[in-house]
Amino acid sequence: MTDHKDIATPKRTMEILKQYDLAAKKSLGQNFIIDTNILENIVSAGDVTKDTTVIEVGPGIGALTEQLAKKAGKVIAFEIDERLLPVLEDTLSPYSNVTILHQDVLKANLEEVYETYLKEAKDIVMVANLPYYITTPIIMRFLESSLPIDRMVLMMQKEVANRLSASPSTKAYGSLSIAVQYYMKAEVAFIVPKTVFVPQPNVESAIIRLTRLEDKKLVVKNEELFFAIARAAFVQRRKTLWNNMVNAFGKEPEVKEQLEAALNEAGIDPKRRGETLSLNEFAVLSDTISARGLELKSDNL
Ligand code: SAM
Repeated sequence: MTDHKDIATPKRTMEILKQYDLAAKKSLGQNFIIDTNILENIVSAGDVTKDTTVIEVGPGIGALTEQLAKKAGKVIAFEIDERLLPVLEDTLSPYSNVTILHQDVLKANLEEVYETYLKEAKDIVMVANLPYYITTPIIMRFLESSLPIDRMVLMMQKEVANRLSASPSTKAYGSLSIAVQYYMKAEVAFIVPKTVFVPQPNVESAIIRLTRLEDKKLVVKNEELFFAIARAAFVQRRKTLWNNMVNAFGKEPEVKEQLEAALNEAGIDPKRRGETLSLNEFAVLSDTISARGLELKSDNL
């Protein structure tokens, strides 16, 4: 049931923005949700219960935070914009299970956050309407961290959601799909119309649901090399895998010989394009390359 006093209604949001003389900051990716139904759908996609501790990024004026606080045990939310602190203190005052951390999420000390707020948590879920200008760095920071996050339900630009969840041999498949799907099962949960935001973003949005892979997780010998090979394979998307690997590792005859042997051992035809390789094939290739001690020429990958 939608409570008429919820933050996420056009009327209440306008009142709050007016009361605090706030204009949304484009530079911080501020697009506030004004539709409670969408928020309820986001919270249910996260399977949030009283056993759940939620990590939120960018609570804004508290619209999503409020719906999370109703269902979760605890909510820990990172907000960079100082102007929103007094607003959140006011709008979220009915909810004693919310902690706002005034921090840039990309700089926050996640180990410290874990020790302070998450150590006892049974079920950790990240739920956020992300600032679109830093969607990928935020996701990768949390995935690469040691935080034991079970699920993520994230709003982002539809095009990025498609890339995260893409399968091989599709236009959207690339190194980002591989980096995310190494850790999580990725699926687009639903598409979100522009009309549920104030101000409306210029791009289409979607909710993605990421679920931690436990038993099914691939294990590679050298993760750094695995991710770099995945990036290298897409540098020139329309060229063959062979071309991209030679560019990444070097054109010297002995390097080429080792690369050929590594591809052969992995059972991968060098004439294929990188975009046709499954995650598993990238993993096998990375291990056969790693076993030969080949090193990337450039640190940029
Ligand atoms: N959760 C609110 C909602 O759904 O209505 C607001 C979402 S808005 C798309 C993104 C929020 O992220 C803004 O509140 C913005 O200030 C915050 N933000 C932007 N960059 C951030 C960063 N580096 N660290 C923490 N919060 C950030």
